[in-house]
Amino acid sequence: MSAPAAFDVLVVGLGPGGGSAARAAAAAGCRVLAVDRRKEVGQPVQCAEFLPNPMLRHGNLPGVLVQKITGMKTFLPSGHREDSDFPGLMIDRGNLDRAVADEAEAAGAELRLETRLLELDAEGLVARLKGPEGEYEVAARAVIGADGPHSPVAQAAGLPPQKTVHTRQHTLPLLDAYADTDIFLSPDFPGGYGWFFPKGDVANVGLGIDRRYGEDLGGPLAGLIAQLVERGLVEDRLLGRTGGSIPVGGLRPMVHPGPVLLVGDAAGLTHPITGAGIPAALISGDRAGEAAAEYLEEGDAEALEDFEEDVRDQFETSVSRGVERREELERIWGRPEASSDAPHRRGWIAFSEYFGASAEAEEAVSR
Ligand SMILES: Cc1cc2nc3c(=O)[nH]c(=O)nc-3n(C[C@H](O)[C@H](O)[C@H](O)COP(=O)(O)OP(=O)(O)OC[C@H]3O[C@@H](n4cnc5c(N)ncnc54)[C@H](O)[C@@H]3O)c2cc1C
Repeated sequence: MSAPAAFDVLVVGLGPGGGSAARAAAAAGCRVLAVDRRKEVGQPVQCAEFLPNPMLRHGNLPGVLVQKITGMKTFLPSGHREDSDFPGLMIDRGNLDRAVADEAEAAGAELRLETRLLELDAEGLVARLKGPEGEYEVAARAVIGADGPHSPVAQAAGLPPQKTVHTRQHTLPLLDAYADTDIFLSPDFPGGYGWFFPKGDVANVGLGIDRRYGEDLGGPLAGLIAQLVERGLVEDRLLGRTGGSIPVGGLRPMVHPGPVLLVGDAAGLTHPITGAGIPAALISGDRAGEAAAEYLEEGDAEALEDFEEDVRDQFETSVSRGVERREELERIWGRPEASSDAPHRRGWIAFSEYFGASAEAEEAVSR
């Protein structure tokens, strides 16, 4: 039997994390293979398409920006509305993923679509792939797992499954231009929230629910859409639907099991309260590509330790706070407190309470 084809870096997944990692590793001179099980990069879109960091260069890539967002309106169970400044961009997520993958290809990475990772020997770094040409093996000197919330790469490296929230979203015609994101906190969306994000002449309306506290996504979504129709914001005409899982358990205890580097959703970098994960995927992907190249060039595992440290420095504080707030909210779902505003103020980023000390610490101080 012939030896498997050899690459310096195998990237699994061509979302924003994988595209960035493949670009950075190829730009640093590595021989990179990046694979995705999808037929087309970025399709189908599974995203509400809000880029919460308007300063990222990716907002300027071709075809990405659809409209600017200036603020956030947060609706509490009592009906109180809190208006905050919260600038960001509504983007065409399919175009973003495609533009980032194009950059990877231009930097010299080889992209293979319709190619699924079936198995990975995370120690020997040999992957079994299945593509249009059948099953085959490739060997690599480093592997980047950019394969989303259920990451088969992380699983092969012996890491446990992540806690996730389930989402469902409809795209509807937007009746008038709108420049805010609307957020709905309610006992109807246990473990998540409802959203209305305007995107040019359409709007993405969706919700997330933790299935441990609620099974039904269809009823609450229909209720949210009815409310938006009544406010005169959208027409009740379905243009598209999507959904998917969002990891909410926080940063994994380890993001580089050996020469396997995890990025984006696979690493648990998605914000556990807002579910935003595009910026973290782009940033961690870039960093992982660079770190893999340094590791291969110098043969020094310190480059991998530096990757771990940089990711933790950049994301751990905000992700850990999100995990803490989720845990506090978990005590209210299915109970009368879920209908009062106070726990939601503490559990959502628009309120100063969110950034306060833990409930226990505050209680201890007031005693
Ligand atoms: C409904 C919804 C709405 C969201 N809205 C927002 C938002 O508005 N703003 C925001 O910032 N974030 C949002 N997120 C989160 C955001 O989409 C993710 O954080 C982001 O996609 C993470 O990028 P990634 O590259 O890590 O993973 P992904 O984009 O999930 O990419 C992983 C890739 O790996 C591929 N893959 C998986 N398994 C294999 C395999 N075995 N072999 C080959 N390929 C494989 C998949 O096909 C996929 O293309 C939303 C998520 C959902 C589900």
